[in-house]
Amino acid sequence: MVDLRTQYEQIKTDIDRGIQAVIDSTSFVKGPAVEQFAHSLEAYTGARHVIPVGNGTDALQIALMALGLKRGDEVITPTFTFIATAEVVALLGLTPVVVDVDWDTMNISVDAIRRAITPRTKAIVPVHLFGQCADMEAIMQIAKENNLYVVEDACQAIGARYTFSDGRTLQAGTMGHIGCTSFFPSKNLGCYGDGGALFTNDDELAAHIKAIANHGMVVRYHHDEVGVNSRLDSIQAAILSAKLPHLDEYTRTRQSAAAYYDRAFADNEHILIPSRAERSTHVFHQYTLRLQGVSRDAVREQLQSRSVPAMVYYPIPLHLQKAYQDERYKQGDFPMAERLSECVLSLPMHTCLDEEQLKYITANVLEVIELCSR
Ligand SMILES: *Cc1c(COP(=O)(O)O)cnc(C)c1O
Repeated sequence: MVDLRTQYEQIKTDIDRGIQAVIDSTSFVKGPAVEQFAHSLEAYTGARHVIPVGNGTDALQIALMALGLKRGDEVITPTFTFIATAEVVALLGLTPVVVDVDWDTMNISVDAIRRAITPRTKAIVPVHLFGQCADMEAIMQIAKENNLYVVEDACQAIGARYTFSDGRTLQAGTMGHIGCTSFFPSKNLGCYGDGGALFTNDDELAAHIKAIANHGMVVRYHHDEVGVNSRLDSIQAAILSAKLPHLDEYTRTRQSAAAYYDRAFADNEHILIPSRAERSTHVFHQYTLRLQGVSRDAVREQLQSRSVPAMVYYPIPLHLQKAYQDERYKQGDFPMAERLSECVLSLPMHTCLDEEQLKYITANVLEVIELCSR
């Protein structure tokens, strides 16, 4: 699904130099490499503050902690997403309120958010799924009208740009009160281990986030609140600093691979290619097809036997997960998410797909679909 080796070989000198410099400095934790990376990412994203942490899940958890929510407060999230989004809500004793997604963009449905708001609702966590932004203009409007916080889960969408109707263009993760991202190796900006970051334009929230990520401490050994220990290590920061200058080029490479896939599949009656959201660019963390009139699982198996990896993100929506069983929800409540979980199929997507590979993948997908639809 991803080719991290070829990408590494292309920038090996810079990466190796960065890692060696951290080792030479012996400043492994909270070193200047982390601060330098945070500043570069502020410049890149336009966020006023970037606070690096240990991973994307921690980023989401710390974001919700920083908002000072109380047990029982409701947090709205899409039911079609990676589990981390709702996991942190549950872990903090908050109440996840899951809502359906749009069939086309696969992102959180704005109408569903509106219907889910109660007097206990305190925050919305939209997920910019597969690399394109949820409808942030509408979401920020709803948040404003109802006095809610918005925490963007931008773990899959770093570098995606969203244009508001007044012409402003902002990056994924910088539109809500807080944005979260992940530097997991396979993400669009990935390190060589775990990493994540929070974005905010709010000085007070930034200070609070930094304190929480550092054991709830502002003055050394004075703990004003219960925090966590979550940091990006210096070696990962050095790797990310070497990769960040390439992010736009990586995004373009992903987009042109997506365009190749689109051309190959556009006319096939069994394949729906990814829809493009009206106001967002798509950075293609995943290239995800929706299949119709054919068994997705049969297609996937056949592809696997032809050495074409294909993955199902995500096979079970949150409300049908065992750990998240809740009397409020049952099968059938979120028809779009349930339908998507049965028909989505993600194809290999990374920065080193060459024409030969794309040709092999698309030819096999078309052949297998033909076989499986008979
Ligand atoms: C990857 C991901 C996360 C979690 O990131 P980690 O760094 O693996 O903790 C959260 N949400 C979404 C949507 C993701 O894709």
